[in-house]
Amino acid sequence: MSDEHANFAEFHRRSIEDRDAFWAEQARLIEWQTPPQQICDWSNPPFARWFVGGTTNLCHNAVDRHLAERAQQPALIAVSSETGSERVYTYAELHQEVQRMAAVLQSFGVQKGDRVLIYMPMIAEAAFAMLACVRIGALHSVVFGGFASSSLATRIEDAEPRVIVSADAGSRGGKVVPYKPLLDEALALSSHKPEAVVLVDRGLAPAALQSGRDHDWAALREQHLDAQVPCVWVEATHPSYTLYTSGTTGRPKGVQRDTGGYAVALAASMRHIFMAEPGQTYFCTSDIGWVVGHSYIIYAPLLAGMATVMYEGLPIRPDAGIWWSLVEKYRVTHMFSAPTAVRVLKKQDPEYLRKHDISSLKALWLAGEPLDEPTANWISDALRIPIIDNYWQTETGWPILTLCNGVQPQPSRFGSPGKAVYGYNVKLIDEATGEELTEPNQKGVVAIEGPLPPGCLQTVWRDDARFVETYWKSIPNRLIYSTFDWGIRDADGYYFILGRTDDVINVAGHRLGTREIEECIAGHPRIAEVAVVGVADTLKGQSAMAFAVPRDAAGLQDEAARQALEAEIMKRVDAQLGAVARPSRVLFVNLLPKTRSGKLLRRALQAVAERRDPGDLTTMEDPAALREIQAQLG
Ligand code: AMP
Repeated sequence: MSDEHANFAEFHRRSIEDRDAFWAEQARLIEWQTPPQQICDWSNPPFARWFVGGTTNLCHNAVDRHLAERAQQPALIAVSSETGSERVYTYAELHQEVQRMAAVLQSFGVQKGDRVLIYMPMIAEAAFAMLACVRIGALHSVVFGGFASSSLATRIEDAEPRVIVSADAGSRGGKVVPYKPLLDEALALSSHKPEAVVLVDRGLAPAALQSGRDHDWAALREQHLDAQVPCVWVEATHPSYTLYTSGTTGRPKGVQRDTGGYAVALAASMRHIFMAEPGQTYFCTSDIGWVVGHSYIIYAPLLAGMATVMYEGLPIRPDAGIWWSLVEKYRVTHMFSAPTAVRVLKKQDPEYLRKHDISSLKALWLAGEPLDEPTANWISDALRIPIIDNYWQTETGWPILTLCNGVQPQPSRFGSPGKAVYGYNVKLIDEATGEELTEPNQKGVVAIEGPLPPGCLQTVWRDDARFVETYWKSIPNRLIYSTFDWGIRDADGYYFILGRTDDVINVAGHRLGTREIEECIAGHPRIAEVAVVGVADTLKGQSAMAFAVPRDAAGLQDEAARQALEAEIMKRVDAQLGAVARPSRVLFVNLLPKTRSGKLLRRALQAVAERRDPGDLTTMEDPAALREIQAQLG
């Protein structure tokens, strides 16, 4: 360990107090065509401009840069357990494929600053398309393949893409999911029409091409086999992409990311958080439609000169050992997933975890939702490697809270995603007064003092006012970025996330985080997963209602067994949190309503529990979940 890494607290302090010197050092981790003249321009808060005057290119740093040393090393490992296909692209091959895609985009007039919308399953061509965009200075806007036509249409209208890259279909659990009809419908709904649609035909579903608009990728690729498309050097502040995320309103926000700051932030994270080395293999099980997929399937592993595994399929198909078989086969060193996926595995035979040689694996990082202690313990016991929680948001692009073990190894404390990461000046704020809470274990809004570090959102696409109003003005009396999460920090600087500020429930005047109740119930040995929502109560304002997935549904067939377990759970909450937190009911269900990315659809759950219309459910994984609950509630 170098001196610079000797002490995390000092490392973090320097990143805030000696910000420019700190980030100037990190900026050396990437290649610049022109080095930055100014590290951070914070003259117009809350808009931060990083590495001003520098010019660089994300694709150059992710691909071309490695050709000299590792052209023949694997770069992209595209695996589909849905179609049974597996293909390894070396850096040289990836370079060629990206240039072919870039040439195709250019042939439709795509230039620096234009948008390209990518609506694709987890196939290699999606990665080519993303890299091709940033290669020529165009912005990609990836829309998650699980979104249906109206969500897609609003994103097309907002992004106004010149070209859309899509595919005939995805596949999930062995079932073909056609994309093209949804895209056609979205294009009919949208007032913006792209110049061209490039369609990757996987031969999964018939897809009619609309003459003059739709083009077959394979045929276009043939025309550009020897394409040489140089990287377009762009300013560090040039946007690399937009990615839509939902807010409290129905209108999605286009999170806009820069180029230089993002490249530096990701490259630095690979060193200080992930301890990654060139030639190693990274397997992130997210989807390119989400921020985790952008950062840790595509860009960061490639920036670090690693191989990245891109996986289409479920974690339990053909069986619950599929991930671990890939770890064994490709000697995966770094794995990144989400707690939900682990809870899915937890319901399977643990033997699957022991069937494969996973000795290459150094650690498993989990993010996207709270990692409950029982789940963390279960996977930790099963894998016997460090399990590292990390907390962040679409807006930040990389972790806000975690353990920077590359700086200084620190023990995990399950239930906590860790400490504030370097670059993030994290504060806990009293939401009523805007005052900073400095004592240990005080509960406040997790907020970040500006400037946000490199890699975080620059603004909301074409809506600076919304960026300022939404994120920087929600806390009274100060200009500070709100994460909209509740948190506490213990005396050692470990944070605990207690749920969204917008999910707070108020029971008889007591404020409760649904997350706290969930943790308590999830700790019951017979419960696999649980969600708690606040439900309107005429006496107490709100009461907590729990929806629990039992580990052994067969053992809960009769009413008496259900009542006994419900009583046991209530007793547990009484004992651990106090009667005030006790749910009014615990319903046992087979499934929780979730988005395809595994986020609980809390509002829909709450609406159904209150016998209201659950609203827009286009992102929902399986509608049966809500129907089951509706039936139980009568
Ligand atoms: P998204 O932008 O969809 O990634 O969602 C970000 C939100 O997910 C955060 O504001 C948190 O509410 C939640 N979240 C993400 N990671 C974690 C984590 N490690 N622990 C607890 N909550 C998390």
